[in-house]
Amino acid sequence: MLNIGVLGLQGAVREHVRSIEASGANAIVIKRVEQLEEIQGLIMPGGESTTMRRLIDRYGFMEPLRQFAEAGKPIFGTCAGLILLAKHVVGYEEPHLGVMDVTVERNSFGRQKESFEADLSIAHVGEGFNAVFIRAPHIVEAGEDVEILAKHNERIVLARHGQFLGCSFHPELTDDHRLTAFFVEMVKESMEKTIA
Ligand code: GLN
Repeated sequence: MLNIGVLGLQGAVREHVRSIEASGANAIVIKRVEQLEEIQGLIMPGGESTTMRRLIDRYGFMEPLRQFAEAGKPIFGTCAGLILLAKHVVGYEEPHLGVMDVTVERNSFGRQKESFEADLSIAHVGEGFNAVFIRAPHIVEAGEDVEILAKHNERIVLARHGQFLGCSFHPELTDDHRLTAFFVEMVKESMEKTIA
């Protein structure tokens, strides 16, 4: 069975586990670097990117996560997780992992919109996806190999760059598991490629 990890240092971990299991894969909460060997794909959850980065450094995850990405394994960054994946973060000189060819801006929906929900139409996934945004970032620029999968008010809120999937919102907070299932399919495809 497919093992999908959820980086369990901070943030919305349990909800992702539930969503992965509902999508027919096995979920493993990743708290130690060695556990990365057990999984074929990884979700980096929402939370607070600065806090998560501190914990990534404290527990020695930075290099192993980069190697995981270099090995071609899929990573899905949601909200703070997207910020961690991005090659550029507006206002910062250095990215975190810096593997997904997008520029993101943090907390970019304004204070009056601390959190809100929106119905999205998602390419390859479907219509009427109820997305929950919490102090969300958005993608201000996407590289040429990046496929834009959803927009909200003209802003890119979901995109795929090869093995990387990143979204502004929290797909794990509702009972609609279609986006997690889409990621599980990405992981399956990447494994078929490795075997072939
Ligand atoms: N604003 C948070 C950050 O910059 C992200 C919010 C979230 O993950 N819900 O990390």
